[in-house]
Amino acid sequence: MAAKANGANGTGPAVNGRAYPFTDHKFDVVVVGAGGAGLRAVVGCSEAGLKTACITKVFPTRSHTVAAQGGISAALGNMGEDDWRFHMYDTVKGSDWLGDQDSIEYLVRNAPAAVYELEHWGVPFSRTEEGKIYQRPFGGMTTHYGKGTAQRTCAAADRTGHAILHTLYGASLKAKAQFFIEYFAIDLMMNEEGECVGVVALKMDDGTLHRFQSKRTILATGGYGRAYFSATSAHTCTGDGNAMVLRAGLPLQDMEFVQFHPTGIYGAGCLITEGARGEGGYLTNSEGERFMERYAPSAKDLASRDVVSRSMTVEIREGRGVGKNGDHIHLHLDHLDPKVLHERLPGISESAKIFAGVDLTKEPIPVIPTVHYNMGGIPTNFHGEVLTKVNGDPDSVVRGLMAIGEAACVSVHGANRLGSNSLIDLVVFGRATADRCAATLERNASHPELPAGASDLAIERLDRLRHASGGTPTAELRLRMQKVMQSNCAVFRTGEVLEEGKGMIHEVWSGAEDVGVTDRSLVWNSDLIETLEFDNLIGQAVVTMESAVNRKESRGAHAREDYSERDDKEWMKHTLAWADMSAKTVSIDYRPVHTYTMTNDIQYIEPKARVY
Ligand SMILES: Cc1cc2nc3c(=O)[nH]c(=O)nc-3n(C[C@H](O)[C@H](O)[C@H](O)COP(=O)(O)OP(=O)(O)OC[C@H]3O[C@@H](n4cnc5c(N)ncnc54)[C@H](O)[C@@H]3O)c2cc1C
Repeated sequence: MAAKANGANGTGPAVNGRAYPFTDHKFDVVVVGAGGAGLRAVVGCSEAGLKTACITKVFPTRSHTVAAQGGISAALGNMGEDDWRFHMYDTVKGSDWLGDQDSIEYLVRNAPAAVYELEHWGVPFSRTEEGKIYQRPFGGMTTHYGKGTAQRTCAAADRTGHAILHTLYGASLKAKAQFFIEYFAIDLMMNEEGECVGVVALKMDDGTLHRFQSKRTILATGGYGRAYFSATSAHTCTGDGNAMVLRAGLPLQDMEFVQFHPTGIYGAGCLITEGARGEGGYLTNSEGERFMERYAPSAKDLASRDVVSRSMTVEIREGRGVGKNGDHIHLHLDHLDPKVLHERLPGISESAKIFAGVDLTKEPIPVIPTVHYNMGGIPTNFHGEVLTKVNGDPDSVVRGLMAIGEAACVSVHGANRLGSNSLIDLVVFGRATADRCAATLERNASHPELPAGASDLAIERLDRLRHASGGTPTAELRLRMQKVMQSNCAVFRTGEVLEEGKGMIHEVWSGAEDVGVTDRSLVWNSDLIETLEFDNLIGQAVVTMESAVNRKESRGAHAREDYSERDDKEWMKHTLAWADMSAKTVSIDYRPVHTYTMTNDIQYIEPKARVY
């Protein structure tokens, strides 16, 4: 049920002589985002009797979660032995010991129940002969602490995200959540005590402004892949929630860790799921060699994503890439039974045909490592509560504010996420935040009056960008940013390349002062929306680059040629980065990694050297 644009019931101070009337709404919980994470929280909060709103800039089932292909991990043991402890070990190892082990224990122990819950709500999982949920092997997923191969990734063919998102949207409607669709959230409303009291949004189809006052604001706004030139993520993945957090004077965590997926289609960026290698696909270089056997003798093509992406990059750099320019790699599925391809990988058969012109039953697909996932984001604990560092306390909770999904850094993925561990993160922590809200909030409680000026930050920024009259179009600034990130903050990093990138990305940031927007209207103004999104992206791009320059070691997705070893003594800590938007500077501090588990059922997993 979309809310009607009722008449404005409030007016803020005029900005530059222009009045911005707004409509006020009051909710117990406001969830920003209707991807897998947002919708799971919406269902939980609504079912708990909390008055819940979901604000989303795209129609819920168009959120990027819909594109997830390969599957969702949980140690169900349907297709061989499995145990949540094995899943925990793999996730810690995959994170290269940057993940918080209490959060990881929370994730893997709650994973099976979260998957069964989805099954009961109607997700049409693929099935085994006996009718159990089908599970495929995925990179880095093992049994007996690295000894065997686990089949842990539950799949609905290669359209798992699609199946989950549609089911969750149905469940949210059933639970009677109130949706505000095609509302663009601009900024958080914070009070003087630093507590979040809601969010300001623009209703894009009629240009009206809305203030959502809430006891808890849950950011579920997804990743910021679009800071890069080639990304598997949707054009809407601009990390708007992360940027709101930066503007509220709060830090983002571990932003230097950007995951490149080994198999984006060359030239188009579209994803070929890791499930393709899970079903037996393999990579070759220009000599036809299955080179992953050399880099990762035991895991081979199913080594974790950072390892495969780096190995591919080395092959290309050493002149063994395929194609006219020797700048990509081949992924073979042509040896597999066409029946398996048809049943298990129908979506990618179609993508390969459309985006690479390849019939994958006969020829290899041209692929290249492509930006896929942001491990970094808004720091939270495993209840989804946002954290900051105050008076030396690195786990100080920001009242009223929560974050989940790819926007959050809880941190279960640490320096590198394992395939199929994001979808499970969405639903486990979506449910955890709903449980936390249900346990701590009074239903339909009265709200204090909004502090004077609560929406000023949002409205001033909107007015400034709406009337920006500089000489550089947003599209030009965005392209410059994307190219800098792609060339200077990619799979391989050196101090020199990163320092150069830092200078270049700061130039784009300063250049953004000269942005020009041509359309001044508030109704369906895509120029304005793209400018708000670019403004969100550039802050995150700068923070990503500066965090990468700062971290002088190699860990997970952050591989530096000048510091090629992982340095646990100095660097087993989370980066926290704050951005001063007016001075255009970044400051960095740290949070210790949680080197303890949630219960005594499993011991802290000690760091090990990397052996593949
Ligand atoms: C092609 C692809 C395939 C993938 N495959 C897998 C897989 O098989 N397994 C796996 O585990 N992971 C996979 N991933 C990763 C995983 O799908 C994502 O990390 C995850 O879906 C992100 O979900 P989310 O709920 O955090 O955000 P999203 O699904 O990105 O949703 C973000 C939501 O926030 C809303 N929003 C954003 N900004 C605003 C704003 N300013 N105002 C209002 N609303 C806003 C959007 O409208 C949207 O509803 C894949 C990712 C991609 C790109």
